[in-house]
Amino acid sequence: MNILVTGGAGNIGSALVDRLVSDSGYRVFVLDNLLTGSLSKLPQQKDNFTFVKGDANIDSTVSELMHSMHFDCVFHYAAVVGVQRTLENPVMVLNDINGFRNILDLSRATGVKRVFFSSSSEVYGEPVEFPQNEHTTPLNSRLPYAIVKNVGEAFCRSYHKEYGLNYTILRFFNTYGPRQSEDFVISRFIQQAIEGKDITIYGDGKQTRTFCYIDDNIETTLSCLRNDLLINDVMNVGSADEITILDLARLVIRILNSSSKIKFLPPLKEGDMTRRKPDNSKMLSILNRPLISLEEGIKRTLQFRKS
Ligand code: NAD
Repeated sequence: MNILVTGGAGNIGSALVDRLVSDSGYRVFVLDNLLTGSLSKLPQQKDNFTFVKGDANIDSTVSELMHSMHFDCVFHYAAVVGVQRTLENPVMVLNDINGFRNILDLSRATGVKRVFFSSSSEVYGEPVEFPQNEHTTPLNSRLPYAIVKNVGEAFCRSYHKEYGLNYTILRFFNTYGPRQSEDFVISRFIQQAIEGKDITIYGDGKQTRTFCYIDDNIETTLSCLRNDLLINDVMNVGSADEITILDLARLVIRILNSSSKIKFLPPLKEGDMTRRKPDNSKMLSILNRPLISLEEGIKRTLQFRKS
């Protein structure tokens, strides 16, 4: 099976690639422009792995690769990410719409059997109900990053409806792990705690989040691939255990036994939702085991950083 992972040099993509290449039945290609990804996250010297540096939003790059390889399955994970980066570069974010068209047009033209698309909890926007359910909760997307993810979902559904191309939409909620960049809150808190610097919180820290350890995300996705689950459907991928950002900072300080103090910064003007909590019942039924707790996930993250 030939598999393409766009954005495969990133946090989630590279963890997926690691698992895929461990199975010799898969030939895995990564297309990544290294905007936020890194070669160091990719497998070294694996016969069934190839890295292609390129931009998923540029038609000719993707076209050459997809026409030469005839992929069975595509994971389209490439995206401009990070709250600050997406707020500061809204036009760059909107360009990701070109990537959807490229990937889906070429998937259709080259006989791809299924496209997995990494959407986001951000599509729910400022929340109207909890838990946020895939089918009943309205999508309140307002900021470019969230709107673009919503557009990506619409692309998937439309290409299925009109051309029969199969898709799976994965709405990732905060996903963390050892390879995450400091654009994301857990990695930033861990780094600040290790260095004994102030742990910085935007606003009063009462905003809540749920955090999903990377292994839970990847195992759910792989089960969908291997067992032909969730074809032409959408699923929240995340934990339902809420924690305030202030309690997260305290937890990181405790686990690391750090001397860091907590410092409150002015709230972000936009992009910092008050609360998020997925209805993750679909995910739990596919994963078929409890999720890894936040404390355990942070400890595993630290373990990897040491090794
Ligand atoms: P990441 O920044 O680690 O990975 C994104 C990867 O995409 C990077 O390697 C980057 O270099 C690459 N990339 C960006 N634009 C590209 C382009 N035009 N062409 C080729 N490569 C490009 O972030 P991540 O956390 O691994 O995110 C992976 C996907 O999951 C993204 O689509 C993101 O929007 C989505 N997501 C992540 C989370 C999370 O909590 N981590 C939550 C919701 C959604």
